[in-house]
Amino acid sequence: MAGIYIHVPFCLSKCIYCGFYSVASTRDKELYVKTLLDEIRIRRDYLPHAPLQTLYFGGGTPSLLTADELSQILRQVEHYYDTSNLTEITLEANPEQLTQDYCSTLRELGINRLSIGVQSFQEHVLRFMGRRHTAQQALDAVGNARQAGFDNISIDLIYGVAERTDTEWEQDLDTAFSLPIRHLSCYALTAEENSRLYKQIQGGKHAPVDDEQAARQYDLLIEKITASGTPERPGFEQYEISNLCQPDFESRHNSAYWSHTPYLGLGPAAHSFDGHSRQWNPANLKHYAENIQCGRMCEEREELSPTDIYNETILLSLRTHKGLLLDEIASHYGEKRVQDIIRHFESNVPTIWYENAAGRLRLTAKGLWFADGIAENLFIVD
Ligand code: SF4
Repeated sequence: MAGIYIHVPFCLSKCIYCGFYSVASTRDKELYVKTLLDEIRIRRDYLPHAPLQTLYFGGGTPSLLTADELSQILRQVEHYYDTSNLTEITLEANPEQLTQDYCSTLRELGINRLSIGVQSFQEHVLRFMGRRHTAQQALDAVGNARQAGFDNISIDLIYGVAERTDTEWEQDLDTAFSLPIRHLSCYALTAEENSRLYKQIQGGKHAPVDDEQAARQYDLLIEKITASGTPERPGFEQYEISNLCQPDFESRHNSAYWSHTPYLGLGPAAHSFDGHSRQWNPANLKHYAENIQCGRMCEEREELSPTDIYNETILLSLRTHKGLLLDEIASHYGEKRVQDIIRHFESNVPTIWYENAAGRLRLTAKGLWFADGIAENLFIVD
């Protein structure tokens, strides 16, 4: 199993919380597409003998690519990679671009999953975040996607935003669960270092992110998930701390990241993983294009030691509903390691935060909120 991530580094403006690499202009799209086509060709041997299963256009705003640009990219991928098992092609999109025509075009191109950046259905929250769409446009986007034949639609929401009350957050969740979506990603607001929000907090123009509010709204999310099923349609299940879906609609692409499956990242700022090291492209379009023109691959590289792999396995596993597979840990790291983990849980972690059954130690919905802290306490320090 292998996946390709393609980073599309263009936005029409920058949202207040955003720390992803993107430029608020589409001026250099031609240079980007040309360079990306070269990179797709040059790096065709990165995932040897591994048929592609997932392709993910992330950003930035991939929905700023035209049908022709997307078609060129998809044709190049099909030309250089084994796509006979390619079952999931996701495109991240902003609601304002998802017109009926554009959605139909995406379907015709073979894209079969949309991840729509909704973030909120409250106008004042959208304005605070610097989003360019209205609540109505978000609703229309989901409707247009559905009408164009998309069955696998995901939306993103952000919680822990001071400008939104708990009641408004519940309303946003009710709206989300009433839509014909299969998947929902809910992220707690963070002040990323290179975001406008971070600068505002540093300059005293905005209050720091309120962790208690975020924890409260996470609890509200859990309550809503439990009640999300109806006689007409299955409810949602939380399969990762920030991701929930109806049965069988997990993001296959993201699930592969969480199980250390190799992937190839293309485009500026994109990361790749070959099973034992990570490499990444410069977070600068011009610099990225110069590198590819001289045939230079990712200039940054990080070798992962066995300890790094172990620590990441603990962290990533605890963040998902799969949890820690104790037999696998015993076979890779020894039975003593498993006994140490179980002892740590029994002495330090409240019993309502985890369950240990059938060879699997996993966090409950309540415990998932503390996954990172619990994992850190289990890390090996060289
Ligand atoms: S959140 Fe998305 S749309 Fe907003 S600036 Fe970041 S990448 Fe662009």
